[in-house]
Amino acid sequence: MYLYNSATHKKEEFKTHTPGHVEMYTCGPTVYHFAHIGNLRSYIMEDVLEKYLRYAGYDVNRVMNITDVGHLTSDADEGEDKMLKGAKREHKTVMEIAQFYTDAFFDDCRKLNIKTPDVVQPATGLIDDYIRIVSKLLDTGYAYLAGGNVYFDTSKLSRYYVFNDHDEEDLAVGVREGVEEDTNKRNKNDFVLWFTKSKFEDQALKWDSPWGVGYPGWHIECSGISMKYNGEYLDLHCGGVDNAFPHHTNEIAQSESYLGHPWCSHWFHVHHLNTNDGKMSKSKGEFLTVSLLESKGYDPLAYRYFCLQSHYRKALVFSYENLDNAVAAYNKLVGRIAALKPEDGDVDQAVFDEYKAKFLQQMGNDLNTSMGVTSIFDVLKAKTSDATKLALIGDFDRVLSLSLLEKAAAKRAEDAKAAQAAKTEGGYTVTGEGDPAIDALVMQRYEAKKAKNFAEADRIRDELKAQGIEITDVKGGASWKRV
Ligand code: AMP
Ligand code: ZN
Repeated sequence: MYLYNSATHKKEEFKTHTPGHVEMYTCGPTVYHFAHIGNLRSYIMEDVLEKYLRYAGYDVNRVMNITDVGHLTSDADEGEDKMLKGAKREHKTVMEIAQFYTDAFFDDCRKLNIKTPDVVQPATGLIDDYIRIVSKLLDTGYAYLAGGNVYFDTSKLSRYYVFNDHDEEDLAVGVREGVEEDTNKRNKNDFVLWFTKSKFEDQALKWDSPWGVGYPGWHIECSGISMKYNGEYLDLHCGGVDNAFPHHTNEIAQSESYLGHPWCSHWFHVHHLNTNDGKMSKSKGEFLTVSLLESKGYDPLAYRYFCLQSHYRKALVFSYENLDNAVAAYNKLVGRIAALKPEDGDVDQAVFDEYKAKFLQQMGNDLNTSMGVTSIFDVLKAKTSDATKLALIGDFDRVLSLSLLEKAAAKRAEDAKAAQAAKTEGGYTVTGEGDPAIDALVMQRYEAKKAKNFAEADRIRDELKAQGIEITDVKGGASWKRV
């Protein structure tokens, strides 16, 4: 597979530390509120990536954190604790908030066919691990104590900015904007590993540590959780593009300083979903969630389809109009698959292999999901049996997860039920040559007659006659045939 690597700024062949095995880490949600559909765009694309790797034959160990501690509202070590903010808003304890929104997150994931990672670790569960890492960083001179907090000393690194080609000064100013300077820091990018001096009151969760009662910094949880469950060599780290700086940059700084060797070889960043008026937010404007889409009658999988139609490295604009277009395309696709006849022919292995190879290659080109979706249309157009087409579509859907075969089967069953309903009513049965639309018309003629609307009954008979259909009244109903 060829995948763009944000750390090297180029598309490169994806290689793993252990051949055939991928250690994968994903930054999980902050559980102080519902996830918005922008967050879920990142999780959808990461899910497709994981499933593609499995499909391509890798064995994958995927780990994700749940940020249920601290996590300040600003990028610097300032601001308000988001968890506490949520707890105050809803008059609940921080842990109740965390549990509620963790469950809500996985509910959304289930609706979007996002698989749960192999390991899901709430950040509050590994405090001892963070303390061990911070202690070693202090012992080895990568960290220092100031004003009661432990800071990482970025001047100890030969290279700090990993993801940014652009002006480093600009970036640092951007980060500091509107934020009070922390005078304890020796260097502008130093960051807190452990707080004992909280910048805000009533910090809800605190733990004892060698430096006093406090809580971990924002970045340490991902390093600690990944090193515990993925080991010392991480192949693939994922997150939204806003996480690249400072979160992922700081994860690299502390993990590599702790380990003493390179840590993660490949960085996958999903670009943002925006609204027409800018960045998606949990506090500004309409808060776009999966439940909101459902309440407006949208199938969550149509949103997944919407995401798959564009590349993960491009910003995507959400509007209801764009979503409506995706709904129409998704329903049309399901309709075309439903029209395939499962009993038509056998699976042609040569055709199957040819199309599968093409799908693997297209999706393997930097996770080109829109080409992946196009591959299904190519299959529908192929000159082969319906059985082969259905087998291929089911196979591709192991990666795309659009429930295509299930939806098509449901549509077939629904159509058959509707046809059946049209065929028998009040003891009156229509038999014919298997066309539900004609059955329905014949039934309408019967109903018109029953209502003594003979003009309408004659009009329908004439309309059918014009189509070459002849109706014969038989005992308990009517029968039709093409003449
Ligand atoms: P959070 O719950 O804020 O920690 O974010 C969860 C994930 O969503 C992170 O990987 C973020 O980088 C990502 N994310 C945040 N906003 C957006 C957005 N508008 N579009 C896509 N991904 C986002
Ligand atoms: Zn993270």
